[in-house]
Formats: sequence, structure tokens, C-alpha cells
Amino acid sequence: MTDSILVLNAGSSSLKFSVFAREADALRLRSHGQIEGLTTDSHFVAHDADGAVVAERSFSGAIGHERATGFLLDHYLDTPGTTLRAVGHRVVHGGTEYAAPVRLDAGVIHALEALIPLAPLHQPHNLAPIRVLHERVPDIPQVACFDTAFHRTQPEIAQAFALPPKIERHGVHRYGFHGLSYEFIARRLPEVDAVAARGRTVVLHLGNGASMCALVGGRSVATTMGFTALEGLPMGTRCGSLDPGVVLFMQQQLGLSVSEVEHVLYHESGLLGVSGVSSDMRSLESSDDPRAKRAIDLLVYRIGRELGSLAAAAGGLDAIVFTAGIGENSARLREAVCRQARWIGVELDPAANARQGPRISTDGSGVGVWVIPTDEERMIAQHTDDLVAT
Ligand code: AMP
Repeated sequence: MTDSILVLNAGSSSLKFSVFAREADALRLRSHGQIEGLTTDSHFVAHDADGAVVAERSFSGAIGHERATGFLLDHYLDTPGTTLRAVGHRVVHGGTEYAAPVRLDAGVIHALEALIPLAPLHQPHNLAPIRVLHERVPDIPQVACFDTAFHRTQPEIAQAFALPPKIERHGVHRYGFHGLSYEFIARRLPEVDAVAARGRTVVLHLGNGASMCALVGGRSVATTMGFTALEGLPMGTRCGSLDPGVVLFMQQQLGLSVSEVEHVLYHESGLLGVSGVSSDMRSLESSDDPRAKRAIDLLVYRIGRELGSLAAAAGGLDAIVFTAGIGENSARLREAVCRQARWIGVELDPAANARQGPRISTDGSGVGVWVIPTDEERMIAQHTDDLVAT
């Protein structure tokens, strides 16, 4: 019998999963996939570690988060030769209280429900599978891993807004997100660049969602995302940092309702909004439309500004790490970012950049530049394994 760990990442319309098996000292990816279309026509697909499809099923109509969780549970409980040892969940918000992953029980689930107002678009979906498993298989340990937790090492002042206590006391702080990705990179960094791991590094998590984080000695000291996952860089469809006066203008002068403003900020802005072409970097890079180029230029410009800001927060810069879909794959974007960062001592090695690294700076570069693939699911599996072992 092999012990396995199921990792769940529940979004608004999909339930992504990975299965890791403990083999000697390592966790090995066995299977991954998703049930998508949870609110339309649901479809389940599972791949093996090499990406080959190993199971698939279509459902007529929407099965929702609860039934999807039950289906996955039955599927993996029935896998011959394996025992489901624990389930690890990605949970977007741990508030100020959870600075580390936590084993779930009724009390913790209740505390995480109380954080729903801080992340109403994500937290309820994250909690749905947790409740189902807590009821159906209470003896299988569950662990919550938070996108916010890694940033709780930041100085108090880096987590503050300049707002009065009557607003701040409702939990209005800069929390930061993508913490599991940054934590994975922070743990990998000593293997590739020991000096940077002890020193000051800015990690660029550039995917559909995008943010940047300054690490000092492997700990987060500042990040571009704040109270929600809207702040900071322009993203696929999210606007990034905005003068809050624009929100007032949209409401007071343009007559947009709160939900219309929310839709503009989350779904109609960013790369999609600026380009009018696509939210997807591959489509933008292959487009001749000048608006597609402008969207990329704006992203690069904002990255450059944030890089200067985060280097200031870290007190200098020893290394830059590119990660996530765009960061790991777009040589063109990395080249543009590095060209703009020459002032801070970055010297790109174009051939290494074209090969996707791992090191893409020249030997003489004042700042090391790396491409390191992230793996948030593995980070969750690792935390889950550690917590259930104690
Ligand atoms: P993620 O959210 O981490 O899966 O990243 C998704 C983003 O990565 C999308 O904008 C994709 O277009 C982008 N991406 C993935 N592969 C490539 C590639 N080969 N070149 C440019 N962008 C890519």
C-alpha cells in the first residue's frame, strides 16, 4: 500500500486536484487534473505524471463543488494499492491569524468562514470541499495552506495602509497573495544561488494572476498585492494598482453600480482591457494589433516600477527570479524586463534566456537572474505531509 496525499484547489468554476505519493524521502506526483464547468456542464479529466489522460468523464449539467468533491473522493478512495492519507487545500485567506498551514477541525473551519468577507469571490469555494470531506471522512486529516501566510513575516509597516483605525480594525491590511508560490521558490533558491538565498531577491510570479515579492534571507518583506488580489501589476483581466479616485469616478460620474465596478476591475481590465485582444500572453505576443504591444509594454513598465520599489524595501538586490506561466515561458517578456532593469546592474545572457535558463544573466551581471518553475501543489502536499506526520 502506498500512502497518497490529495491536493485540492477549488476555484469558482473548477476543482483542480493533484495526487502525490510518499516514496522513501520524496513526494512523487502520481496524478493531476480537474473537474471544470462546475456551474455549467461539468467534465472530469485526470492525467498521469507524464500528462497522459488516465480517466475522463462528462456529466450532464452542473455538479457543483459538493458533488465534485464527493466524486473525487470516491475516485481516489477506490484506487487499488493506495491509501488516502490526507488532503491538503489551497485556501486564499488566512487573515492575520494564520501565518502557517493548519490542520483543519470544526473550530478552524469556523474561523476560516469568518474570513469570507475578506475574500468573498474565493474563500467560499475553497471551503466547500473542506466541509464535504469533514462530514464524509472525518478520520482523514485535512490541512489548509494559505496564499497569505508566507507574507506574515513582513514588517508591520509593510502590511499597513494609511487609513484610520475605524476602517483598519475591520481587517483592512495589506495581506499579499501567491504565498505558496513564493515559499516554493524561497526553498529552491539555496540550491541555485546561495548568495541570493541569504541576501535580497525579487521574485516575479507572472501568470494569469501576477505579483512580485521581495525576499530577504528567504522571508517575504514586501509584495505588490495588498488587501485583495487586485493590487500591483496589471494581470490577465485585473487592473492592478489604481488610484482609488478612479473607483469613485466610475460610481459618481459614470453611474456604475458596485457590481459593475467590480466586473470592470476583475474581468475587463489588465492585458485584456488594454489590448482588446486577449488576456493570454501567447495570443498577445503573436498578435499584430498595436494594442496588444501596448498591453505588453504597460505590463513591462509596471514591473520595472515595482522592481525599483521592492529593491528599496529589501535594501538592495542580489537576484531576480522569473516564475509562473509567463515568467517561465516568455523569453520576450523577460528580455524586455531585463533591458529596463539595466540601471540596477542586470545584464541578460540572450542565449540562456532563449533556452529558458535556469540562469539567464551573464557571469558579470551585478544581479543574478533566474528562471525557476514554481509548484504550488507540491508545496501544499509538502506542508500536508509535514503536518500529518507530527
Ligand atoms: P499561469 O496562470 O501561471 O498558468 O500562466 C498563464 C499565462 O502564461 C498566460 O498568459 C499564458 O499565455 C502564459 N504563457 C504560457 N506559456 C507561454 C509561452 N510559451 N509564451 C508566452 N506566454 C505563455
